[in-house]
Amino acid sequence: MSSDTASRLERTFKVVGLPGDGIGPEVYASACQVLAVMEEQFGLRIELDEQLIGGAAIDAGGSPLPQATIDACRKADAALLGAVGGPKWDGNPADKRPELGLLKIRAEFNLFCNLRPIVTHPALHGFSPIKPDRLANVDLMLVRELTGGIYFGKKWRKDGQAEDICSYNREEITRVTRAAARIAQQRDRRITLVDKANVLETSRLWREVVHQVIADEFPDVQVENMFVDAAAMHLLSRPADFDVMLTENLFGDILSDEASMLCGSLGLLPSASLNEEQFGLYEPVHGSAPDIAGKGIANPYAMLLSVAMMLRHSLGCNREADALEQTIFSCWNDGILTVDLVENGLGTREITETVCQRLSSHDSSRRTAE
Ligand code: NAD
Repeated sequence: MSSDTASRLERTFKVVGLPGDGIGPEVYASACQVLAVMEEQFGLRIELDEQLIGGAAIDAGGSPLPQATIDACRKADAALLGAVGGPKWDGNPADKRPELGLLKIRAEFNLFCNLRPIVTHPALHGFSPIKPDRLANVDLMLVRELTGGIYFGKKWRKDGQAEDICSYNREEITRVTRAAARIAQQRDRRITLVDKANVLETSRLWREVVHQVIADEFPDVQVENMFVDAAAMHLLSRPADFDVMLTENLFGDILSDEASMLCGSLGLLPSASLNEEQFGLYEPVHGSAPDIAGKGIANPYAMLLSVAMMLRHSLGCNREADALEQTIFSCWNDGILTVDLVENGLGTREITETVCQRLSSHDSSRRTAE
């Protein structure tokens, strides 16, 4: 056993669990079950501290992000979130909306760097509305700036008029550019900067700063510019050409949902939101899916892939992350899928049990001794 493996296994990792609303608790339960098997199988020690966020937190105490949740996250290595929101809270005033819990936790922990890997898997090509020949070799990392831009700018509405301010500064662009460049250095060393620099002043600042940071600090990384409208088109017509896509908050939100169609379902896409320390918030890209909540049919794979990202990025357990991903891919190869992908698909619980069974028979001694 390597000393790195030994020191990892001696630690107890602290993870805050945030089930949230709708299908959030259903996919979160799946993650807990899989983590329990991973502890057993790989000798990991993970202490889960379950806390409230979103609509569930509003119902319990009035705030979408209670102080107890913030305090628990301060002591943790990572947080694992299901999803927030739902029609029950749609009529609430702005300060009592579930989504505010998410915006607040991102701001509170400076989670400026949102990673959304878009990787198509051959067994799932047939489930995408895009032609299979376009889907071969798609492996792109969408890096979305998460704590600035129009989502966090001043907003007002009066007398039939409304305004949302989009604002960015050099520091905000610099830090996410550095994060994207470090990721690019571990991949194909290519960044596509997506913006609307022909119209928006914020986009022109992005171009200036991104090119300067890359030229000064990452000369081995190439940057190309692309307008967001063209990117929306190229993402579907030639997705395999992208390596790292770097963009601001709003464009990243829209493009990542579009990109989910390359993979076949929103229920397959994981995400990580990171700060400059190692703390990260890990969650599926999808929302609380009120239309299917409580039916036991939510696709848990986006959540389980988010667990793999957590193991890799915040806990430093790369081999365990690989093992979980390989197990998930083996399930896809064998058609172990939910109803959002196949007619007569399996339920959340059946998929979770299959993943757990396969993990239990994984040869962990060979992997951890590597
Ligand atoms: P959604 O992602 O919840 O659902 C969109 C569609 O995809 C629905 O038909 C849903 O059934 C399906 N879907 C999503 N996840 C799935 C899964 N794991 N398995 C199977 N099918 C799945 O988006 P929406 O309907 O626009 O929003 C619903 C609520 O979620 C809203 O209140 C919204 O604000 C909130 N939301 C939360 C987050 C988050 O917590 N990060 C993200 C997006 C939306």
